[in-house]
Amino acid sequence: MAIKRDYYEILGVARDCAPEELKRSFRKLAMELHPDRNPGNPEAESRFKAAAEAYQVLSDPERRRSYDMFGHAGVGNGAGFGQGFEGFGFGDIFDAFFGSGFGGRGQSRNTRGSDLRYDLTIAFEEAYLGSEKEIEVPRLVTCEKCSGNGAQPGTSVETCTTCGGSGQVRRAAQSIFGQVVNVVSCPSCQGQGRIVRQPCSECRGQGRLEKTRRLKLRIPAGVDTGSQIRLTGEGEAGVRGGAPGDLYVVIRVKEHPQLGRRDQDVVYELKLNMVQAALGDRIEVPTVDGPVEVSIPPGTQYGQTFRLSGKGLPHVRTGRRGDQFVVAQVVVPKDLSTAQKQLLKQVGGLTGKPEKVSKGFFDKLRQAINLD
Ligand SMILES: [Zn+2]
Ligand SMILES: [Zn+2]
Repeated sequence: MAIKRDYYEILGVARDCAPEELKRSFRKLAMELHPDRNPGNPEAESRFKAAAEAYQVLSDPERRRSYDMFGHAGVGNGAGFGQGFEGFGFGDIFDAFFGSGFGGRGQSRNTRGSDLRYDLTIAFEEAYLGSEKEIEVPRLVTCEKCSGNGAQPGTSVETCTTCGGSGQVRRAAQSIFGQVVNVVSCPSCQGQGRIVRQPCSECRGQGRLEKTRRLKLRIPAGVDTGSQIRLTGEGEAGVRGGAPGDLYVVIRVKEHPQLGRRDQDVVYELKLNMVQAALGDRIEVPTVDGPVEVSIPPGTQYGQTFRLSGKGLPHVRTGRRGDQFVVAQVVVPKDLSTAQKQLLKQVGGLTGKPEKVSKGFFDKLRQAINLD
């Protein structure tokens, strides 16, 4: 895979720049590099595409966060998650900025379908084991009745005479820089290059219909909240033969009632009473593989951590498992009965701080061996 440049660098902004600045910077670059302004200049075109891709990612707060954390791998460019951004369509993003008036884009023919996003919540266990899911995605599909061309079957589709079918017309205008020729969307056919006399009754001439589709989705083991799975070509149908968009499934993993998660590692807080902490104990703790007995040594301190190697979650790409960390929390009793207090005082007399211990301890010792 070719080395990709940093998105912030491409847009010429600082990593912590505000969304407005991002937008400003992209807009400026896009105006400068747009293919219609740089005909036959492949360098401008590739820079334009790179800027559009960078903006598409950084303008989405979630994907920007993912990119900040994991770089290009975090936004669908790494192995395992989709095939990268080759063939990436920038029609939609461009329309959002300039509308269809710039260069006849927008309503023109062969527009790629929009990308879709589907938020999917899964259980902690499903993130650990991986799973198969069926999801229902409402989306625009190509109309079968008219094969997407928008005309009632058997009726004619005529080539627009205003633009000769190109969907674009040239318009000269005077500006302070002299005469500027702009290419704009054809007003007669709205940039479609063709005129439908009788629209398809099924899709009302749109060429696309909304339909819910069931999709099987394989969720790899080890996914975390924010992981994205890209299903190429499962977005909205393209317009009149345009390529379909992609579907991005964004994962949210439910929290486990007992186990915390830190990337691939699992954290478990083990509550010990004072006696267990002082004398040690064998205690069953939950892990993703089921309960495991852990040996707590005598004298365990608050916050002391024990590692269960390989008991974490698998890495989504390598499958290598993290560890589980068992953190000791010593619980100090609050509501003691008189008898319990009495007992504790006795223990305290034996094991309290050295300077206090010495007196009580030796007193007791003397009594015990009858020195007095
Ligand atoms: Zn036309
Ligand atoms: Zn139709």
